[in-house]
Amino acid sequence: MGLMTWNVLVLPGDGIGPEVTREAIRVLEHVAARWGHQTRLQEALLGGAAIHATGSPFPDRTRELALESDATLLGAVGLPEFDGLPPSERPEKGLLGLRKALDVYANLRPVRCYDSLIESSPLKNAIVQGTDILIVRELTGGLYFGQPRGIEGAGPDETAVNSMVYTRHEIERVGRMAFGLARQRRGRLTSVDKANVLENSQLWRGIMTQLSTEYQDVELDHMLVDNCAMQLLLRPADFDVVVTENLFGDILSDEASVLAGSIGMLPSASIGDRLPSGALRGLYEPVHGSAPDIAGRGLANPLAAIGSVAAMLKYTFGLSEESAAVERAIGEVLASGTVTADLKPAGEPASTRDVGLAVCSAVG
Ligand code: NAD
Repeated sequence: MGLMTWNVLVLPGDGIGPEVTREAIRVLEHVAARWGHQTRLQEALLGGAAIHATGSPFPDRTRELALESDATLLGAVGLPEFDGLPPSERPEKGLLGLRKALDVYANLRPVRCYDSLIESSPLKNAIVQGTDILIVRELTGGLYFGQPRGIEGAGPDETAVNSMVYTRHEIERVGRMAFGLARQRRGRLTSVDKANVLENSQLWRGIMTQLSTEYQDVELDHMLVDNCAMQLLLRPADFDVVVTENLFGDILSDEASVLAGSIGMLPSASIGDRLPSGALRGLYEPVHGSAPDIAGRGLANPLAAIGSVAAMLKYTFGLSEESAAVERAIGEVLASGTVTADLKPAGEPASTRDVGLAVCSAVG
């Protein structure tokens, strides 16, 4: 792979967002220097910080810069002062606007149980050992977006409606992405639905089965979502790639996060189709929120943000060597015990910055 310039938009956001993003950028710049790539970083506002400065959680300038960048790295959004407001006026609205603007329809959440963190999971070691799952959640359809929706009427007839709507096109594109990802991993794909009850899931299951004829090197199985919720805790190490619709994916990925030991460990990547230029634009962010309870004190674990940089290198820039180097460095830093308080180190906890520096030195 030739040398590249990485055009990255950085959105530090609120709470611990700026602290963890700083360390992720430190690692990104270190990797660029080590492998001789160039970085072109721009910074913009999103969330509560953007409301304070401009009145909007997703300012037009941020939208423009995101559309011009190859990748966007986000910290987290959300501030307690906005908690009482309706969803349309909250910082999180900025995040939904950003995902929509970038048309990222697949949310990829890798969940790994590192050997050195095995004690941090509430499950027995023998169960979580070797867990390495990639959850692919459909992000822009289903119950969260379907029409009609709303609350009508009054008294005993007051009625609330949400609609689970998927088109063939929406299912096929996320299905193809999941099959392609399974092919690059251990070749196993579990499609999760509720086909015994929902027509929506019957369409989903039928399309996944049809797609499997194009990906004969991938072994597909179907699982009902209620059973999957159980199997993820009974035998997590047996899963490779899991693909599912928006609501099921939201719930299952939070459940699976328990396997990794701390929410401060979980990266995510949201991607869509390749642009006409061939680039795969992506939005990369830790799964955790803005953690106002620990913000500004150097306590936050930056490894989810740093893992999001590894995902950016892999998916948007197609640099598997550089990405693997960051993932290996994260494993080494965990094994060395230079970890923040959420991972309950034996000795004195490391600071957010200590962990970022340790990852850079482990990259070499
Ligand atoms: P949270 O993820 O911010 O925090 C949950 C708990 O985990 C807290 O005790 C926190 O201290 C801890 N934690 C989270 N990240 C950590 C890290 N990197 N290192 C160490 N500990 C960490 O969830 P919450 O408290 O429910 O929400 C706080 C705010 O964040 C709210 O405004 C919420 O709406 C918002 N939020 C934003 C996102 C996002 O930006 N993607 C996601 C979830 C929540």
